[in-house]
Amino acid sequence: IAERQSCPDVRTGASGTTSDEVAALLPVVGGDTTVPLVDGSQVVYANLDYAASAPALRTVADRVTEVLPLYASVHRGAGYLSQVSTALYEAARQTIARFVDAREDDVAIVTRNTTDSLNLLAGVVPAGERVLVLDLEHHANLLPWLQSSDPRGHRTTILPVAATVAATLEVLAAELARTPYALVTVSGASNVTGESLPLDRVVEIAHAAGARVAVDGAQLVPHRGFSLARSGVDYIAFSGHKTYAPFGAGALVGRRDWLDTGTPYLAGGGAVRDVRTDRTVWQPAPARHEAGSPNVVGAIALAEACDTLAALPAGALEAHETALRARLVAGLEQLPGVQVARIWPDSDEPVGVLTFTVAGENPGLVAAYLAAEHGIGVRDGRFCAHPLLARLGASEGAIRASVGVGTTSEAVDRLVDALRQYVEQGA
Ligand code: PLP
Repeated sequence: IAERQSCPDVRTGASGTTSDEVAALLPVVGGDTTVPLVDGSQVVYANLDYAASAPALRTVADRVTEVLPLYASVHRGAGYLSQVSTALYEAARQTIARFVDAREDDVAIVTRNTTDSLNLLAGVVPAGERVLVLDLEHHANLLPWLQSSDPRGHRTTILPVAATVAATLEVLAAELARTPYALVTVSGASNVTGESLPLDRVVEIAHAAGARVAVDGAQLVPHRGFSLARSGVDYIAFSGHKTYAPFGAGALVGRRDWLDTGTPYLAGGGAVRDVRTDRTVWQPAPARHEAGSPNVVGAIALAEACDTLAALPAGALEAHETALRARLVAGLEQLPGVQVARIWPDSDEPVGVLTFTVAGENPGLVAAYLAAEHGIGVRDGRFCAHPLLARLGASEGAIRASVGVGTTSEAVDRLVDALRQYVEQGA
């Protein structure tokens, strides 16, 4: 921690601190894992798939080991360990809320992941209200709104984005001026291209029209500082396993009223104040939406990841990932037939995720070649964003590389070199 706090400046090239030193600053578990190649040799795995799931931070792994002996059921246990576990769980909730700079009256619900958070939110939007969503969303921020349209009487509109960010904001404003919406729900950063709309502008436009804003923060929160208070965003959803913690815990943080009154989609013990055979009295949030035994260790692990990331010097992660992404884009753009996808030419600096195609090549085969012959982990397919892939002209799929705290420039260079071999000499 002391070393982390004394780090003067981690912008690449500034004060001599490089992006690779940031990778060394925050060790991840398994960063030195070796994997077998088809020729029988072993190489250190180059993980370029952080956008799918990020490896756990060493601090998180240590914290999990520390709290496992305290394992006990929370909230209703009278025993000592139950009380300790309850205190740790509730402290974790506060840490998670603090990490996204929640307002005083916001509520933080521990969920399973972003998908769970957005399904939960879809279930508490007041019945009969309209929801506006863009066509570039991950399915987790698309399908819950479509599914909830019928049973609860929501009407969801999917708005096609325009060719530029500026034009998309105009289209958004025009739609909100034409029709009253209760909620606009957008991704904080695309899981395909890393791009985002300026959230402050989205909030300004939506709030002026009386609509709230929910942000799918799965790709934003782990990579950039995020503030509910400063951005004015009403709800933020994110996943622990993309935020350097283990699978199984995520969060929904935001305005209390809908969460206090909406019917929970998961019914069971802990969520209720009183149950009779003829009626159920629900608890207010967060308990209302945390039926069943909660993921205590998962929440504590996520909170530890939040604390570790929050202790980094301001802007360090962004600078680290921006430098790596720029290096990757520069390398890829030199390769014949390789095209890096963009939704808009005028978007702000994307987070450390990019998607590319290799002309005439099957993305699955390219990804398999990278894994089998070079020990490089990327992702191929349509990334749970089928409408966006169609918009990008990649309905047959593409290849995605993504970086994070533990990524080094060496890993990025390995990917570019491996692809160079592929396109210049054939696999
Ligand atoms: N939203 C975005 C932008 C994502 O990238 C993902 C996962 O890839 C999700 C939502 C869903 O996250 P989870 O699988 O953790 O629910």
